[in-house]
Amino acid sequence: MQSWIEISEKRLVENLRAVQALAGGEDDLGRPEGVETLGVIKANAYGHDAVKVALILAGAGVRWLGVSDVQEGARVRRAVQGVAPVEHRLTPGMAAQEMRLLVMGGLEAEDCRQVVEEDLTPVIWTVAHVEMLERAAEATGKPVRVHLEIDSGMCRQGVDVAGVGEVARRLEGSRWVSCEGVMSHLAAAEVAGSEQTRRQQERFARALQVVAAEGIRPVWLHLAASSAVDEGGTMAWMREQARNLGARVMIRPGVALYGYCVPIASGVLRPQLRPVLTWKTRVIGVREIDAGESVGYGGTFTAASRMRLALLPVGYADGLRRAASSGVGNGWVMIQGRRAAVVGRVSMNLTTVDITAIEGVEVGSEVVLLGPGVTADDHARWDGTISYEILCGIRAKRP
Ligand SMILES: *Cc1c(COP(=O)(O)O)cnc(C)c1O
Repeated sequence: MQSWIEISEKRLVENLRAVQALAGGEDDLGRPEGVETLGVIKANAYGHDAVKVALILAGAGVRWLGVSDVQEGARVRRAVQGVAPVEHRLTPGMAAQEMRLLVMGGLEAEDCRQVVEEDLTPVIWTVAHVEMLERAAEATGKPVRVHLEIDSGMCRQGVDVAGVGEVARRLEGSRWVSCEGVMSHLAAAEVAGSEQTRRQQERFARALQVVAAEGIRPVWLHLAASSAVDEGGTMAWMREQARNLGARVMIRPGVALYGYCVPIASGVLRPQLRPVLTWKTRVIGVREIDAGESVGYGGTFTAASRMRLALLPVGYADGLRRAASSGVGNGWVMIQGRRAAVVGRVSMNLTTVDITAIEGVEVGSEVVLLGPGVTADDHARWDGTISYEILCGIRAKRP
């Protein structure tokens, strides 16, 4: 085993509660007031293991999960089968509902059969999507509920305001496919009061009017990922939209559940969140080198004095970024609670770190590659990227 990850169930649930409390406060039953949480577990739960995270979130009362595609949806469906989400912590007697899985990353014709069979809920935005789902639903005799995505300005997924009427009409007239939710996604939610967000809200509101005019009464409206919940303004706006349409608000937090978020001027989440994942390995070799020796490919590091090095069985093939190399991002790992700097270049499967100042490190000593003392934000900074990319790029043994 080269490296493995550990997941803190406690922290995951604490992060979930922090997001829920911020999204809507709580009603007198302790539920976030009218706001439903869809836990985003796409990309194998940002590297945390989608099945493990799904089971923890279900146990914490989350009834909706968002997956990347039908394959991931099917895998999670099998894992949660028979595990009814528990009632929310203060609502004994509330009927346990089936776990709902929203497939967020597009829909292809060959996916439709599995959507119906595994009881998945796809995000759709074209007439072709409706028609191919209809065929699959009719063939199996099981109706399908979908969420309609509006492109409010990201120019990625979704139907734009001009096209929404046609798709809504087709949905409204369908015997087999019904529109349960209407959603959009913000491009710059982390910028408080941004012009981009204002423009997207305005377009989303217009699309909602068109949908309503076509006779569709969605149960759910959703727009907010972690940053939009944290930013503050969007949630109040969403509640107002939902009130006007007689719908309910859903939030779609991902990264915040895992303990990270983008710093936002008006944000309050960051200090409340704690990372859920720890990535570990063990030392596989220890050596001393003399001053003047150079380390690793290219000999980019030369020892100025005698030093002790530990060899780790992890490299960029495992997701430890090459930019952690000394002289580039100057990354480090944690051993016995102390920083051990990367020395020379991170190679494909091996990395060397400086343990000169850390006593008692030997073959088999545990090493924290990412966790307390070295966060995904640190890794991201070394490589000029974001915590999301670091987390979902980790290739390690899952719990
Ligand atoms: C990934 C994603 C989310 C979650 O985003 P975070 O920033 O991780 O909270 C929500 N909605 C959609 C459509 C997404 O693609």
